[in-house]
Amino acid sequence: MTPPSTLSSYTVWFVTGSQNLYGEETLRQVAEQSQQVVAGLAGLPVTVEWKPVLKDSDSIRRLALDANSDDSVIGVIAWMHTFSPAKMWIAGLDALRKPLLHLHTQANLELPWADIDFDFMNLNQAAHGDREFGYIQTRLGVPRKTVVGHVTNPAVTQQIEDWQRAAAGWQAARTLKLARFGDNMRYVAVTEGDKTEAELRFGVQVNTWGVNELADAVAQASDADIDALVAVYVAEYDVADELRPGGARHESLRDGAAIELGLRSFLEGGGFGAFTTSFEDLGALKQLPGLAVQRLMAEGYGFGAEGDWKTAILVRVANVMGAGLPGGASLMEDYTYDLVAGEEKILGAHMLEVAPTLTTQRARLEIHPLGIGGKDDPVRLVFTADPGPAVVVAMSGMRDRFRLVANVVENVAAPDLPNLPVGRAIWKPAPDFATSAACWLTAGAAHHTVMTTAVGIEVFRDFAEMAQTELLVIDEDTTVRGFQREIRWNQAYYRLAQGL
Ligand code: MN
Repeated sequence: MTPPSTLSSYTVWFVTGSQNLYGEETLRQVAEQSQQVVAGLAGLPVTVEWKPVLKDSDSIRRLALDANSDDSVIGVIAWMHTFSPAKMWIAGLDALRKPLLHLHTQANLELPWADIDFDFMNLNQAAHGDREFGYIQTRLGVPRKTVVGHVTNPAVTQQIEDWQRAAAGWQAARTLKLARFGDNMRYVAVTEGDKTEAELRFGVQVNTWGVNELADAVAQASDADIDALVAVYVAEYDVADELRPGGARHESLRDGAAIELGLRSFLEGGGFGAFTTSFEDLGALKQLPGLAVQRLMAEGYGFGAEGDWKTAILVRVANVMGAGLPGGASLMEDYTYDLVAGEEKILGAHMLEVAPTLTTQRARLEIHPLGIGGKDDPVRLVFTADPGPAVVVAMSGMRDRFRLVANVVENVAAPDLPNLPVGRAIWKPAPDFATSAACWLTAGAAHHTVMTTAVGIEVFRDFAEMAQTELLVIDEDTTVRGFQREIRWNQAYYRLAQGL
């Protein structure tokens, strides 16, 4: 699927476990009440579809196979309303390849203390039915999220929404085609990686095209299409006078528009949802793509600079996970620090490529020299990310596997930056600057990240569980010593989890 993305094309299935022992009347009530639970999930961003109550091994296995084969189904929610002997679930859970959420809930909120009898007890026994189910999931090693509570509790539905968003990101990764224009920046270590392993682990196809194939597409942009796109720029941004039609440097804006048109046609033609560029390999392109990249990220594409396809995957996934929410996702790079004690801040930016979805302010469209790349001055959007909560996430290759590292941060208001004409963000990392940076370096986390202001850390935790990939989180509870221990334990765990 190519961007833009919404979550409306996706579905998750809701399955209820029981058995034939209960008889018709009780099973009828189980079905009715599980439909009421599903009705309580109607406000979630991904549609929850009720499935008939499962009572035996064959139908459970069949349901798992059907979920696997339906591309619109991005996950399965399971609840054992009654007791469903868990050997019935072995074949189905072993076959299931979609994300699983175990919802440990109950139809009723309060117990009817005055009327309760043993019929009620027999009907409402998730308290032990779900324990039997938890046992078999753990015994089989089934990755899942467990959510506990009544569906009228907003904390419960929020956890399910987070999981749905992670599942949408996971589905987006499984179907992602990523185009690299040129290779990685020469001599850089952390942006390298195992593209074959990435296709197995995340489902992403990462392949390279010569940048002059992109330049050919740019050359085909028509004057009429360029005129129309320039009109869009003038409507959406505060365009510098020199770039406006009739301005002294208007041709540079037209070159930037042609790059956007060419990139877009190349990506749409190939079904790509993410891409990378390299300032060391621009071929016949007149400028380093800045404005075009910023706008494509804002539409939902993934992007990584300097050939960084791993970060491009994260930007695409974060864009899908945040679909429909305020804020956005962007390539980000830790650039420089304000080290005033107690007020430490990180100033993040890139040469050009930061997505304007990080701000609600109207961006300025400007042109300035770029010291590297040896090309014409590039056009770019200039803005500061809005104050508010955000998460930065990086992916590193650790020889035999991938590692995700995330930091919970707070974007803060910027002073005037009249001589810094790029998109940027300024943040305070949790739990404090020194702990955050020490942990980040200890983990070997990258200098490129995705910054998202649309979804929180919980969605990435769920994503990492689905991807069976390590995620180290630096947040308000983190200490350097505890983090060091976690890294050491994880190194042993992930070796063992791959099998001996
Ligand atoms: Mn960079």
